[in-house]
Amino acid sequence: MEAKLNELKQRLYEVADLNSAGSVLHWDMSTYMPPGGAPARGRALATLGRLSHEKFTAPEVGHLLDALRPYEESLPYDHDDAALIRVTRRDYEREVKVPADLVSRIGEHTAMLYNKWTEARPANDFAGLAADLEETRQLSIALAECFPGYTHIADPLIGFSDYGMTAETVRAVFAELRQQLVPIVRAINAQPEIDDSALHQHYPEGQQLGFGLDVIRDYGYDFNRGRQDKTHHPFMTRFAWGDCRITTRVKEDDLGDALFSTLHEAGHAMYEQGTAEAYDGTPLGGGTSAGIHESQSRTWENQVGRSRGFWQHYYPALQAVFPEQLGSVSEHAFYRAINKVKPSLIRTDADEVTYNLHVMIRFDLELQLLEGTLAVKDLPEAWNARYQSDLGVVAPDNRDGVLQDVHWYGGLIGGAFQGYTLGNLFAAQFFEAAQQAHPAIPAEIGQGKFGTLHGWLQDNIYQHGSKFTAAELVQRVTGGPLRVDPLIAYIKAKYGEIYAL
Ligand code: ZN
Repeated sequence: MEAKLNELKQRLYEVADLNSAGSVLHWDMSTYMPPGGAPARGRALATLGRLSHEKFTAPEVGHLLDALRPYEESLPYDHDDAALIRVTRRDYEREVKVPADLVSRIGEHTAMLYNKWTEARPANDFAGLAADLEETRQLSIALAECFPGYTHIADPLIGFSDYGMTAETVRAVFAELRQQLVPIVRAINAQPEIDDSALHQHYPEGQQLGFGLDVIRDYGYDFNRGRQDKTHHPFMTRFAWGDCRITTRVKEDDLGDALFSTLHEAGHAMYEQGTAEAYDGTPLGGGTSAGIHESQSRTWENQVGRSRGFWQHYYPALQAVFPEQLGSVSEHAFYRAINKVKPSLIRTDADEVTYNLHVMIRFDLELQLLEGTLAVKDLPEAWNARYQSDLGVVAPDNRDGVLQDVHWYGGLIGGAFQGYTLGNLFAAQFFEAAQQAHPAIPAEIGQGKFGTLHGWLQDNIYQHGSKFTAAELVQRVTGGPLRVDPLIAYIKAKYGEIYAL
């Protein structure tokens, strides 16, 4: 058995090496590559992706997984070897069900449409993409149909990123959240608008980046195994346990943009840096689902980085970096400015309270597209109607409406959006559990000390990598399934105070 397990691991390491090489090329493409490198880079990424897929879906991998089944069944569920065999089999069975031809058609089509979108969005040209988006819809359905037995056509696509969740379970959670959120948004809207003009003065790039790096060093992001570079759309990428990088972007007229993106991506990266080193190069090394991953970024961005205690500690340091801009702005005014709630058009700029309403709009619309109850050509109209009814705002054009997110144009329709809101829910539930275990955490944040929280996350979430599913993890860590009320309680306490509700 040991020889078979070692052979499986050797094969998985080779797959991981190919994927890691692809990640390096992708990171470089998004940070430093000159434009002329694009055609060859696209080809190289496609080649690496194909080789990785071929190696992972080789019949020998299936034979090894079969041969290892008795060994797996002889072990406790949470034994590392049992988890490795179980999770590898889950990934293997998923990948072998999709014909290689469909994989390459999806890859080529989405790469083509992504390039078109980068020009169509600034040109406000939805109509020019509609036929291609219809093709994406059909390819998404074709992919889902490789996994018969679903209840809703979106279920397999949701399961790819948030294993164990379905359209029905997500809908139920979202409906409950929405019912509770809408009255809070209305109550806040009835209050005077917060003045956040202090955030929109001129803030030079170098100082902005320096301050953000100081904070994530305090958080516990390990720069021996990571670094930060600039990009257009910030992301985190893991090449290996020893190299988990983040990216950010800077707007010199918006102090919050780079800072909170750095705190967010550092949260993703600390999760990856915290996975057990022994899992590196296997399917266990890395976060377990989109929702759990997003919960870790949102914890450090919001629960910590937008808290009053955090700014009691860091605001004097920020004022010292920007004395002209912030010298006469009180900590109280600054705290309110970074937590201003206002229904807006752009999801990625949305505040903590309205953000999830943006996600729900996208989730509902993509289910309708996949069901065939909404035609692609009618998408802009449906989008605007939902923004009007849910947020009370309508985009002046499709640029800041239906064309704003890359997901449908650079990937599939279905499966990509629910993780953002699931992440916010998990984050609140985990943070509640962490504070129950260690009531001193908020006071420590107020002193710029993050070791207790980081250690709790390390022990309860990070180290496990993908050993447990999201549902198993939340059960183990909080003693029950995913709940809506911790996020609602957090929002009510924080924003009830800010807006004197
Ligand atoms: Zn994220």
